[in-house]
Amino acid sequence: MPLKTTRKRNKWVYLFKEGNAKMRFLLGGKGANLCEMTNLGLPVPPGFIITTKACNQFLVSGGHFPQGMWQQTLEMLKKIEKQTGKKFGGEKNPLLVSVRSGSAVSMPGMMDTILNLGLNEKTLKGLISLTDNPRFCYDAYRRFIQMFGKIVMGIKAEKFEEEIEKIKNKKKIAKDTELTIKDLKILLEKFKKIYQEETGKDFPQDPLKQVKAAIKAVFNSWHVKRAVDYRNFHGISHDLGTAINVVTMVFGNMGSDSGTGVAFTRSPSTGEKKLYGEYLIDAQGEDVVAGIRTPKSINKLKEELPEIYKKLSSIAKNLERHYKDIQDLEFTIEKGKLWMLQTRNGKRTPQAAVKVATDMIKEKLISEKEAIKRIEPKQVEQLLHPMIDPRAKVQIIAKGLNASPGAASGKIVFDADRAEELAKKGEKVILVRPETSPEDVHGMLAAQGILTARGGMTSHAAVVARGLGKPCIAGCEQIKINLKKRELISNKIKAKEGEILSINGTTGEVILGEVPLIEPKMTKELKHLLKFADKIKRLGVWANADNPKDARRARAFGAKGIGLCRTEHMFFGEKRRPLVVKMIMAKSRKTRRKYLAKLLPHQRRDFEGIFKAMDGLPVIIRLIDPPMHEFLPKKEDLIEEVATMKAKGIKGEKLERKEKVLEIVEKMWEINPMLGLRGCRTGIVYPEISEMQVRAIFQAACRVAKKGIDVHPEVMIPLVCHVNELKIEQKRLENIAQEVMKEEKVNIKYKFGTMIEIPRAALTADKIAQVAQFFSFGTNDLTQMTFGFSRDDAEAKFLFPYLEKKILENNPFETLDREGVGELIKICVKLGRKIKPNLEIGVCGEHGGDPKSIEFCHQVGLNYVSCSPFRVPIARLAAAQAVLKEK
Ligand code: PEP
Ligand code: MG
Repeated sequence: MPLKTTRKRNKWVYLFKEGNAKMRFLLGGKGANLCEMTNLGLPVPPGFIITTKACNQFLVSGGHFPQGMWQQTLEMLKKIEKQTGKKFGGEKNPLLVSVRSGSAVSMPGMMDTILNLGLNEKTLKGLISLTDNPRFCYDAYRRFIQMFGKIVMGIKAEKFEEEIEKIKNKKKIAKDTELTIKDLKILLEKFKKIYQEETGKDFPQDPLKQVKAAIKAVFNSWHVKRAVDYRNFHGISHDLGTAINVVTMVFGNMGSDSGTGVAFTRSPSTGEKKLYGEYLIDAQGEDVVAGIRTPKSINKLKEELPEIYKKLSSIAKNLERHYKDIQDLEFTIEKGKLWMLQTRNGKRTPQAAVKVATDMIKEKLISEKEAIKRIEPKQVEQLLHPMIDPRAKVQIIAKGLNASPGAASGKIVFDADRAEELAKKGEKVILVRPETSPEDVHGMLAAQGILTARGGMTSHAAVVARGLGKPCIAGCEQIKINLKKRELISNKIKAKEGEILSINGTTGEVILGEVPLIEPKMTKELKHLLKFADKIKRLGVWANADNPKDARRARAFGAKGIGLCRTEHMFFGEKRRPLVVKMIMAKSRKTRRKYLAKLLPHQRRDFEGIFKAMDGLPVIIRLIDPPMHEFLPKKEDLIEEVATMKAKGIKGEKLERKEKVLEIVEKMWEINPMLGLRGCRTGIVYPEISEMQVRAIFQAACRVAKKGIDVHPEVMIPLVCHVNELKIEQKRLENIAQEVMKEEKVNIKYKFGTMIEIPRAALTADKIAQVAQFFSFGTNDLTQMTFGFSRDDAEAKFLFPYLEKKILENNPFETLDREGVGELIKICVKLGRKIKPNLEIGVCGEHGGDPKSIEFCHQVGLNYVSCSPFRVPIARLAAAQAVLKEK
């Protein structure tokens, strides 16, 4: 007996009423939403969807429809005929359809769509007698031949456009809408001829053949170059495929009671809750997009077609309530009847995103958690920095690293002193340097923004600028700086000191001339939203701040502590700098101590200010870290100065002094300063320096504590690689702390801890934790030392080719490398907490403000991340999102 098998039929085609919004991967975004709207009872023109699965099968089979797909398409067409009472290819009441692409992820304009299928010589006549609008019918037919010819048969668009232009020129008319019936009839004949000449065949009259060919063309458009490039750029999978929506045509160009438009349920630029959009009467969708006629504001529709406006408003409201998000709608009015052609979540500006999210919480439309999930940390970043007015026309002269976001304009200045001098006079300046060092900080403070030709994302310029919240472009190798001639050269221009330059730190673009800026502020909505984020997050968010002003700003942005105060930044300024130089050059410890004693009150004052600003919160102060010669003049400059003096015949004490400085600088010079005498090594070789710093910290802490301030100092020893370093340093410095507290007659709670910046420290964390009371990952150095990449050179020299060739997925100085650096962090946390289960561990490198890295810090159970004050709001949001992702 033959075996009877019941094989389940593959379903390739869905009527709108058979799908729903959740089926976007099978039906595409547009299709799934058309289904959802149909099921909500909204006026959607009848139609069906051929699935993305069918598309994928078609593409892998080399262009054959999957078994059963065409049969199902024909069945669905029959159902549509029944629903509409029209007939496909019928002479009396012809059904016309559109064939539209639509993948799961929106790829606007990347794939093809064909309108008016079903038109031929016969149906054209039928349509004319039915509509009594011959102009509209001829126009529809010529558009169809044009679109079909171009998309399905690959005829060059110009072939058709040239004919239209010829007629327009002959008749001296500017717009397509001015073409008469006679013109259109002539055009039609010309178009048919072009089609015949180009394809060797007549324009297909069989509507089913038209549909079949159109479906194939739209499937194939998944692989056109622009679509592939778009997916590559946005990281969209090439396996998704496109669905096809076959939809009954409705016409907005049938007179003054017809029209077409787009609408947003709330303003996509401000978030204001009101219907927003535009429309055109007597027009088709493409007329709105093409900008041939200026559309009217949707408010006008209230006057022009009040009933339609009422209906549209009510549908918009319902759709928003249903999807619980801003909807971006497309609609058509055909002879006084409203049809909905599309709904999707609307794209919005950062301002609108935050306002809509908070408003929707208030309206009880979405939960607080949902609101937090919806905001992208990048959007918050954009909100907090001045932005170049996107409408402005600008002249870009070079591009560098977008090291610190925001934008600024000002006069070009080539050194820090000049920047300060001009700023004191109230002028706005952009500090342009080959690179910056701590001695440029006063100029950076005075400038609106910083541009350097060298250095990476964690270069001095980048780190300091981010800390200051000033825009910065670093490593802009496309510019050359001639400090002698005081000019900046790019391959496009030459600009002198004093000329106006603008920088866009968000994009890395250097712009000639002034640009109009939009000012940022922390809106009440953002504050509100971040309060919810604080309730959700477990990771603390602290800030890196080196002065009281930054500390206050950090606190205002919601920081719950200072995770890194880089004390070397306190060694600059008119009064301090000469003392620092003398201190370094001192021959004896005694002389060095003399200058350190003079520096002490300055540091103490800074610490007092920071403690006051952070009343009740922890403040981690890091002892001096960079190599000492960074505080001295550059070797090359000194050599040149000495040579010039000799050439000019300058002798005596002046020359001797210069030579002595050169001698010392030469002695201190190192081939690899980043691996040289820096960090805790400085304290070990020159104990009096760190002693002065600790004395200043504890004097400040005791004195403000006596005034009622709640102080929590934590002293951080940098760049430790062996526990023995810490044993020596910490013991010595704790003794100083005790001594000061005795002198001041106050006892305060404090901690001593270390930075983990060297792989060896991470791998021996159990030993280090026996001494340290806290750890803080200096992920800038830890990345540098793990990869063996110089943090100051890698980005400018070789990192971009690495990213382009996909050797690395991300810039490890921006986003923490989980596989390598992250693994060291995990080992370190495990070893450290084995010894001290409650060991406080944070991150204070630049990664502390990067959302992906923050997620990792949350996952491995760190206590906090510390970042520049301006990134605190982003970090609060990212920390909350990390919790929500867990679930
Ligand atoms: C670090 O290395 O991550 C760090 C915070 O210290 P610095 O950037 O000052 O070296
Ligand atoms: Mg470091």
